[in-house]
Amino acid sequence: MVKTYEPVNECIYCGELGTAGNALTDEHILPFGLNGDHILPKASCRRCATVTSQFELKCLREAFGLYRSQKQFRSRKKSHKQIAEVINRYQNGNIQRAEYGANEVPKAVAFPVFPVPGILVGNDPCKDLSEDLLVKIHTSGRPPFSEQVEEVGMKLSITPQPLARMIAKIGYGFAVTTFSYAENRNWRGYCFQQLRDIILSPHLKPWYLVGCDYSNALVQSEIDNRFHAIQFVTIARESERGLAAIRIKLFADLDGPVYLVVLGEIDASNS
Ligand SMILES: [Zn+2]
Repeated sequence: MVKTYEPVNECIYCGELGTAGNALTDEHILPFGLNGDHILPKASCRRCATVTSQFELKCLREAFGLYRSQKQFRSRKKSHKQIAEVINRYQNGNIQRAEYGANEVPKAVAFPVFPVPGILVGNDPCKDLSEDLLVKIHTSGRPPFSEQVEEVGMKLSITPQPLARMIAKIGYGFAVTTFSYAENRNWRGYCFQQLRDIILSPHLKPWYLVGCDYSNALVQSEIDNRFHAIQFVTIARESERGLAAIRIKLFADLDGPVYLVVLGEIDASNS
């Protein structure tokens, strides 16, 4: 079900109020291509939308392209036909690459699994955690199979950095609705500038504020979408102010990771 929030009338990323050359556009909290239908009208300037659509498209086409096609998710490019790359190794040792239609191979998606956000464990904000990255693969169904084939390989892509930025964007967009941005302009100060910087810049390490949640607690979704779950949470810290965060589970019916985006410190006067 499509849900449209009140217009923000300001770019939630850079603060642009909208000009003829850089107009405000509608923002999907979950990308359109992930069947997201929660819309923030006039919430992203064109310049920022150009930046965010780049990492979103990378995730949608590469990391989730095959699975989206298999599950018939929406696509703005109707003509795009997803191909699955398969490598067959035959009993005689020959190796052959083959292409199959998305529905001729098992349903598959590879999720990058991030460490916990660095802020929760006192890391340096710039620490590179890419060496701690894991991958969780979900598959179901039978591979294309013939008697002579000894081993079947299938290509799955992961896009860790673009996905971390997409997760940051989803969390931030959802937070804007949670905190009714339009009514409370001070909210921008409350949310880490660094989160917006992560969304807008490919050169920053996102791992201080974006990561995974290892609590195993169910994501109690606060968004009406049958594919994905999003939940606002607060995280207490011992001798420091608590943190506001968003938990996100993409493709919630799969056994994928729960992503965590830290938004900012909880204002003492609000807690
Ligand atoms: Zn902007």
